[in-house]
Amino acid sequence: MEKIKMTTPLVEMDGDEMTRILWKMIKDELLAPFIDLKTEYYDLGLTHRNETDDQVTIDSANATKKYGVAVKCATITPNAARMEEYHLKEMWKSPNGTIRAILDGTVFRTPIQVKGIEPCVKNWKSPITIARHAYGDVYKNVEMKIPGAGKAELVFTAQDGTQIKETIFDFQSPGMIQGQHNVEASIESFARSCFTYALDQKQELWFATKDTISKKYDHTFKDIFQEIFDKEYKEKFDAAGITYFYTLIDDAVARVMKSKGGFIWACKNYDGDVMSDMISSAFGSLAMMTSVLVSPEGYYEYEAAHGTVQRHYYKHLNGEETSTNSVATIFAWTGALRKRGELDGIKELTAFADHLEKACVATIESGKMTKDLALITEIAQPTTLSSEEFIKEIRRELEKIYA
Ligand code: NAP
Ligand code: MG
Repeated sequence: MEKIKMTTPLVEMDGDEMTRILWKMIKDELLAPFIDLKTEYYDLGLTHRNETDDQVTIDSANATKKYGVAVKCATITPNAARMEEYHLKEMWKSPNGTIRAILDGTVFRTPIQVKGIEPCVKNWKSPITIARHAYGDVYKNVEMKIPGAGKAELVFTAQDGTQIKETIFDFQSPGMIQGQHNVEASIESFARSCFTYALDQKQELWFATKDTISKKYDHTFKDIFQEIFDKEYKEKFDAAGITYFYTLIDDAVARVMKSKGGFIWACKNYDGDVMSDMISSAFGSLAMMTSVLVSPEGYYEYEAAHGTVQRHYYKHLNGEETSTNSVATIFAWTGALRKRGELDGIKELTAFADHLEKACVATIESGKMTKDLALITEIAQPTTLSSEEFIKEIRRELEKIYA
């Protein structure tokens, strides 16, 4: 077969530890033999981030703005232990945080479903995608312990000195208070990213807050979503045959549990934090979860939801065999290649992404899988493969599809 040609490069962000090992295996075994791979390569491995004073992370995010689509390997977010391990000049910030700040995007996480790894909720037939607003609220709060009787007030002082004041509570005894904020611009970006992604996926969008109780704070979220939807997206949604649905957060939770799945659930920061862990564990495992950062302008950065799988990497360095699941990282590549194919009108590339995903699913459904899945599958007597054997099996399935 002749290799598939690409016209625009993908922004390739290499990463760390076990996922860096998988990255190379995936390229060598599953991509290079089929595609004339065109990428602009950025090494986000911690050593190189340190050498470039993290400039490489900024450059890779700017390249994503230039080309529109990136694929990212998991990377280490440094902590004190990593400072010593990698002799770092500084405790560099999380690359995901840096990239998100530059692209101003929202992260969408979707479980990868296969037969034999069934969701705990039996009526979930299709994946549920969580979109989490990643700014403000309790994550940027200011808190205070109240020692005893006294009046707590909320005060806003405008630049001209005028003030708005509200009493929070007249304390008669000790307690605590908390101040939270958000900004309209951030909520607007979040809304646009969600509407853009729903159109892209041709899936319904759900959004929920507690606007009946929080009549100013949460209600502003509700209003901003509705205004942007009505002005900019309603016609496009109608044309695509999809809907935007707003409800109260408790009603949303009840409906999610009774749903068939197959929609995008936009969540405020805290709800997204909590609900994404519920959704991912109820669907199976973090190793079977994709993640894509979508900017309000429609730039896409695909990755796996899990980290660098450090424990497996140390086994690998010790010469021990590993059984690390590469599916989420492969799906990061297929997501990016499919998007590139769509944007550049290369049908073979879009088809390749579909075929490679099918090959992954077929491999697992035939009972061949990595240890993490073998432990939770309902398939009788699964074969547990090493990291490398698993990728080779996927290659065999992919070749079958092309034969
Ligand atoms: P992790 O890499 O997600 O791994 C945690 C555990 O989950 C592993 O030890 C393994 O369990 C299991 N696991 C995760 N992915 C797996 C896979 N593909 N196949 C099989 N098992 C898998 O999280 P971590 O160990 O807490 O973090 C390691 C590094 O990743 C940290 O430096 C962190 O900063 C970074 N991180 C990066 C990202 C990102 O770039 N997006 C996200 C999260 C964390 P067993 O050991 O029980 O087999
Ligand atoms: Mg969390």
